[in-house]
Amino acid sequence: MTVYLDHAAGSPLRVEALEAMRPWLTTSFGNPSGGHAVARRARRAVDEARDAVAEVLGCDPGEVVFTGSGTEADNLAIFGVVAAAAGGGRPAGVACSAIEHPAVLESVEAVGGDVFAVDERGAIDLGDLAKVIGPATGLVSVMLANNEVGTIQDLSSVAAVMADVAPAAVLHTDAVQAAPWLDVATLARPAQLVSVSGHKFGGPQGVGALVIRRGVTVRPLLRGGGQERERRSGTHNVAGIVGMAAALTATSAEREVTAARVARLRQRLVANLGQRLDGVIESGAGGELLPGIANVRIPGVESESLLVLLDDAGVAASAGSSCASGAMAPSHVLAAMGVGRTDARTAIRLSLGRDTTEADVDVAVAAIVAAGQRLRQAEPVGV
Ligand code: PLP
Repeated sequence: MTVYLDHAAGSPLRVEALEAMRPWLTTSFGNPSGGHAVARRARRAVDEARDAVAEVLGCDPGEVVFTGSGTEADNLAIFGVVAAAAGGGRPAGVACSAIEHPAVLESVEAVGGDVFAVDERGAIDLGDLAKVIGPATGLVSVMLANNEVGTIQDLSSVAAVMADVAPAAVLHTDAVQAAPWLDVATLARPAQLVSVSGHKFGGPQGVGALVIRRGVTVRPLLRGGGQERERRSGTHNVAGIVGMAAALTATSAEREVTAARVARLRQRLVANLGQRLDGVIESGAGGELLPGIANVRIPGVESESLLVLLDDAGVAASAGSSCASGAMAPSHVLAAMGVGRTDARTAIRLSLGRDTTEADVDVAVAAIVAAGQRLRQAEPVGV
């Protein structure tokens, strides 16, 4: 049996999502853009899903644009706003925090944007933000919660700095990791653009959404049939959209209870590791962290080797970051938080989900302790 502690990478499909999707994968079909009754039924399903997503995210249905992923939502926010601003003669500078997901960071880099710092807990350095942005800034991107460490940002203080020094800028927040755990409608209120991704909260893979609040102009990335009110062309993924909406509604309904229960499990995990292995460091400790993500560093134990042993023992976890080549890159998030390279190489991310149990946590702790002790004897790293 596998103990799955990689929910931040992808969570299992919720039954509510599966049931909502089933007709659209079997008997029901139709292109929502068509004019006949079959198409209209598909259109209605997409509209109902849009209403449900808008309800949970605290926006108008017309402000929801369905995308093919969280990555696409992030790209649409950044490239879309920059292109529209540049085309309209408005400020088109961009800046993001140093700990953003590559979907944001690489998009910002691609348009020659700037990066501002975080402190050792991973919270935005508001002083540096004020220095980096200015009247020429058209967009600032700050994730609501980080995917490697789980740090939660206070977007209202970011928006206050923006109002002072970059009044023309809109705020984008990547709420992909926040959505399973936090009240996005309230916490992302200061942002004009909000990204989410279905597979992080029990929806299917390959579907996401970008909230674009009224008044914000975005140039589309994809052109063609003009779907999503000209903001995202391409035939709708009806099953995916319907499944994502059902998962988001179900997640939101039980969010507070689940978040409180999982936060206790996370606490148990970190405390037990700390008691049983010398020197364990919890990344981001002291800051506000998501209930579902624990990033721990185990001095003397290289994460790459540890993860292999954990995989053999049936525990699925991950390093904070990985790269497509398969070679472990040092985490840009930990580096931005001031963690040295050797220390960062010992970091693993244990991410819990709504179905994680106390027994899962205890099995994982036992496996990490056994593997950690073995590796410390074999090839100590930077102790
Ligand atoms: N943003 C964050 C914070 C993420 O954690 C992820 C996925 O891990 C993404 C964006 C990308 O979302 P998707 O996998 O839907 O492309």
